[in-house]
Amino acid sequence: MLELKNLQVNYGRITALKGITLEVRASELVAVIGSNGAGKTTMLKTISSLLRPASGELLFEGKSLSSLKTHEVALLRIAHCPEGRKVFAQQSVKDNLLLGAYPRFRREGRKAIDLQMAQVFEIFPKLRERVSQMAGTLSGGEQQMLAIGRALMLNPKLLLLDEPSMGLAPIIIDEVFSVIRRLKESGAVTILLVEQLAFKALQIADRAYVLEQGFIRLSGESQTLLSNSEVQKAYLGNLHRPN
Ligand code: ATP
Repeated sequence: MLELKNLQVNYGRITALKGITLEVRASELVAVIGSNGAGKTTMLKTISSLLRPASGELLFEGKSLSSLKTHEVALLRIAHCPEGRKVFAQQSVKDNLLLGAYPRFRREGRKAIDLQMAQVFEIFPKLRERVSQMAGTLSGGEQQMLAIGRALMLNPKLLLLDEPSMGLAPIIIDEVFSVIRRLKESGAVTILLVEQLAFKALQIADRAYVLEQGFIRLSGESQTLLSNSEVQKAYLGNLHRPN
């Protein structure tokens, strides 16, 4: 479904992605793990066309994404759930969700959007309870759920999840990850997850890539990576394991 071929991305003179090659097949949950500054966010922003690659190829269902604008990427049903959630704090939960479906209104009309919202509420019942509440007043975990719900309002083929665990208490992280697992199991959406919490990500992913300083260092089945001694040493310290 998604192919990155030798992708290089620069910020001025800084090269953040130094030629990465990666693929995501339909219905997979692929994780990219790596520490601070490895280039995970840069990779997702490039897929969404928020950043332009300096070289390399970026293909979605065989077509190049490189020259598209961000809204055109959204029209292909690639949804980006950004790092730090970025909900619209002064808007209600409902309006945040509607904004996630914005590219669909003209093509599909209100009925399809309402149906989608009902599905999002099935996944996140708490959002239904708080439908009129300002998003900025939700807890961190609720905001994360809203950010994922907003992305799902696009009815995405491919969901890009940037560090959904960020800043959340362990028990809430478990909740968020169990939702991601269920989304994967539903088979309705393909997921590319980037995460610092390597253990958590490897537990739910089919395959994973280890990104280090802009390079892919390792890749393989998640179960294989979980037992890889290099990965264990570098990424699966006590901090990343459940108690
Ligand atoms: P984190 O989990 O901390 O967000 P990350 O793996 O997502 O890390 P990126 O945010 O993609 O990493 O950053 C990759 C590299 O690019 C880092 O060295 C970072 O300092 C650099 N970088 C990111 N954004 C910019 C920017 N706007 N200008 C210059 N350098 C940047």
